[in-house]
Amino acid sequence: MHDFVVVGAGPAGSRFARGAAEFGYDVVAFEQGTVGKPLACSGHVSTDIWEFVPEEAHERLYQNDIYGARFHTGGPGSQPYRFFKDEEVSNVIDRIELDRTLAEAARDAGADIRENNTVVDLSEYRDHVEVTVSGPEGTETHSARMVAGCDGPKSRVRHAVGLPEPDELLHGVLGFDDEPDDQDFVDVHLTVPRFFAWRIPRGEAGVEYGLAMPPGNDVSARFEEFTREYGVETDRRCSGLIPIGPADSVTTGRVFLIGDAAAHNKPFTGGGILYGMTAADCAVSTVDPNDPSTLAEYESAWRSELSSDIRLGHLIRRAYSAPEKVQETGMGLFEGEIGVHMDRPTTLFTREQLRTMLPR
Ligand SMILES: Cc1cc2nc3c(=O)[nH]c(=O)nc-3n(C[C@H](O)[C@H](O)[C@H](O)COP(=O)(O)OP(=O)(O)OC[C@H]3O[C@@H](n4cnc5c(N)ncnc54)[C@H](O)[C@@H]3O)c2cc1C
Repeated sequence: MHDFVVVGAGPAGSRFARGAAEFGYDVVAFEQGTVGKPLACSGHVSTDIWEFVPEEAHERLYQNDIYGARFHTGGPGSQPYRFFKDEEVSNVIDRIELDRTLAEAARDAGADIRENNTVVDLSEYRDHVEVTVSGPEGTETHSARMVAGCDGPKSRVRHAVGLPEPDELLHGVLGFDDEPDDQDFVDVHLTVPRFFAWRIPRGEAGVEYGLAMPPGNDVSARFEEFTREYGVETDRRCSGLIPIGPADSVTTGRVFLIGDAAAHNKPFTGGGILYGMTAADCAVSTVDPNDPSTLAEYESAWRSELSSDIRLGHLIRRAYSAPEKVQETGMGLFEGEIGVHMDRPTTLFTREQLRTMLPR
């Protein structure tokens, strides 16, 4: 019997698999496709990302430095409100390479990561969990003391064990223009319902255009309109779901969710790479596969790491739906240098941030 079966080898699954294997546990991870594909993510992350990957990976992953954002209440020609730091705030990275790097680190630690293996069913018993996997050799059943559901926003694991859905799923779409651009700013346009559209300069990899919003609002037509306003035609179009708002519980007797499966995501940007890996680290340091009571410790640990920032993130997101005049007045008041950490809106209230907001 395995100590852990991990379902999904995205950032959350590979990070957990690596940590649990380093602890000496028997870990097998099943990934339905090939690691990193298909792409449905901007790979725009705070510089904290470098704490999660080996140093030698920097050259392969890095695409551009970002120092701040220009917010607009209208389209490309509208007045920008600039928020920035005098040092890099974030990096744009190659997301496919990130997933490969994290999976490789998990393999090096001793985790068995099996690609092209889809978990199709799961049954939880008092003392173990049975996982049915469909792969190139046919269908197999694996037993594990515990299962980590790291299978993304539509999580089959979550559904199989009857855990509640996230509060909301947004629909995101991306496309790329090959023209190299190493500008220091991303552009954020508050022009779509309850979220935003964006332009991200990716250095030599070109420019990414994207938007996300609640489904049912004709996302593709909005995306066409947005890129037309910029005067570009994009290719390599892709799309995905962004879960917002974790449920009250992400654990059962022997199953626990990490990452997008648990909506470990920033409600005001849709970024989940670092929150998912932070929650994975919480799981590694708390969950003992021989002791189901430790899952309660995991629930407390990730909530104490992320809940305050997620709560504040919801409040920030509300401003995206405020009347345009209110948005402009608010942004006009606060634009300029900021001290806030991109993943941690609670740092808005640190001494460093308050100092940057004082009149000079
Ligand atoms: C348009 C868009 C842009 C985004 N941009 C950013 C960004 O710039 N920065 C950021 O931080 N976040 C961004 N995100 C969010 C980010 O992509 C996710 O938060 C992140 O991928 C979550 O990682 P994860 O490991 O939890 O899930 P995933 O990365 O979704 O990985 C889940 C894995 O599970 C596998 N899987 C699913 N079901 C099964 C099954 N039954 N059996 C086996 N394997 C299975 C999948 O193939 C997948 O590899 C964006 C999302 C979207 C949609």
